Amino acid sequence: MRIKTIEKLCCPFDKKDLKLDIFTKDINLNILEGILTCAYCKRKYPIVHGVPIMSPDEYRQMELEQPIIEKWKLEHGLSDMQLVPKN
Ligand SMILES: [Zn+2]
Repeated sequence: MRIKTIEKLCCPFDKKDLKLDIFTKDINLNILEGILTCAYCKRKYPIVHGVPIMSPDEYRQMELEQPIIEKWKLEHGLSDMQLVPKN
């Protein structure tokens, strides 16, 4: 997905702006892997194979998303990668 397209996305939970961290791009500079973080509610939405996974909480498949996040944590030395913040 192109950066310009991703920049138009907002958090499905509260419609606030998302911060983009890019991990992998293809030769056309499309984003293949990255993570979108809501500045407001701190939810994180992974971009996998160029597709942002932005389901509302009740439809999120954490068992699919979490292994991807764990891989990125190792590869990119990330900490604090809670997908949905605990209250
Ligand atoms: Zn949010």
